[in-house]
Amino acid sequence: MNAQHHRPLACILCRSAEVEEFLDLGETALANQFLRADEINGHEAKYPLRIGFCNACGHVQLTDSVPPGEMFDNYLYISSASDTLKHHLWELSDLLVRRYGLGTQDLVIDIGCNDGTLLKGFQRHGVRALGVDPAQNLAVFTDGTGIERCTRLFTSASAKDIVARWGHASLITATNTFPHIQNLADFIDGLKTALKPGGVFVIEAHYLLDIIEQVAFDTIYHEHVSYWALGPMKRLFEEHGMTIVDAERVPLHHGQLRVHIQRQGEGTVQPSVERILLAEKAAGLEKLSTYTQFAERAKKIKHDLHATLRSLADRGERVAGYGAPAKGNTLLGFLGIGPELLPYIVDKSPLKQGLYTPGTHIPVVRPERLLADQPDYVLLLAWNFVDEIVAQQAEYQKRGGKFMVPVPEVRVL
Ligand code: ZN
Repeated sequence: MNAQHHRPLACILCRSAEVEEFLDLGETALANQFLRADEINGHEAKYPLRIGFCNACGHVQLTDSVPPGEMFDNYLYISSASDTLKHHLWELSDLLVRRYGLGTQDLVIDIGCNDGTLLKGFQRHGVRALGVDPAQNLAVFTDGTGIERCTRLFTSASAKDIVARWGHASLITATNTFPHIQNLADFIDGLKTALKPGGVFVIEAHYLLDIIEQVAFDTIYHEHVSYWALGPMKRLFEEHGMTIVDAERVPLHHGQLRVHIQRQGEGTVQPSVERILLAEKAAGLEKLSTYTQFAERAKKIKHDLHATLRSLADRGERVAGYGAPAKGNTLLGFLGIGPELLPYIVDKSPLKQGLYTPGTHIPVVRPERLLADQPDYVLLLAWNFVDEIVAQQAEYQKRGGKFMVPVPEVRVL
């Protein structure tokens, strides 16, 4: 059931109406809206989840929009739940402090600061730390830590209020939040307001080339309005008087892109920018056919995983899920997998335990359940943390349990 009709978007980058849909993942519930037991029989809003390629500027994006308040005001994903991610974010803070010579006089703003994991990294260096995040429920994680917090979306308007209260920032970071931005022009206005002269904006986000190469179609969900490649991102910032000065591919999750941006005329453009642009061109990121092939591979995974789970069920083998990330819900929703094929999912995050997956209503329980129950197979929904999970669950595997990974093709480890 569709909660409300959403007009397909014009390209959020160039405003062209030539956004061509290449994959329809169906009507799905919002990926982070886990349900309590008393909610699973009630009305659940579902929205079309379709992705398209702009024939005018090459930007890949969702073709339907959902109001941000419905996705970000109460947020169940916390960065510190993953040891790998926490370690990565602290390393990033060390690297940026060194590179930009940040000290006690400098203010760092993290947009979409979540539970403050990255800012806690900066705090170790004595840098002033401000988190901007609309999630009311996450504010408790930075209470009493010395990290300041602005519980709003980052926009041109909130940027003015931030400057009035906290001053200008030497560095602004956005890890895994830049793809959420619907109004890009207004967001960049906010950056220019909040950054001091010579200041830097650093983005880390999922990277379109990795998504295509790994058939990571489960990265597609309503929060992720954009699927950035460097080419369209460069055009965007140039139009707004800013320059990408450095870019690098980072091996976190299924691969990410890290980008450093300054005002035009500030900073020196590194050769890495041109190198990545050439690689994107060589991989066909500027051609629609690349995306239609990706869609065919996603449909094959859907078919194969469904067939595998059905045949395991027919043979009486028991399967459980590991990890209840937002991405898992795209996979479950697209495949139509519910509790009849996957009776439960274990997840380390206490915020999700005791709840049910949106749309598919599979219970989320504590990881200890795996050893108590010893299912024959564990389907890794958080497959981007495969090494961490397999290491933590060595005992399950020692007792004969097997892990199954869904992408880039269905396989048993
Ligand atoms: Zn466009």
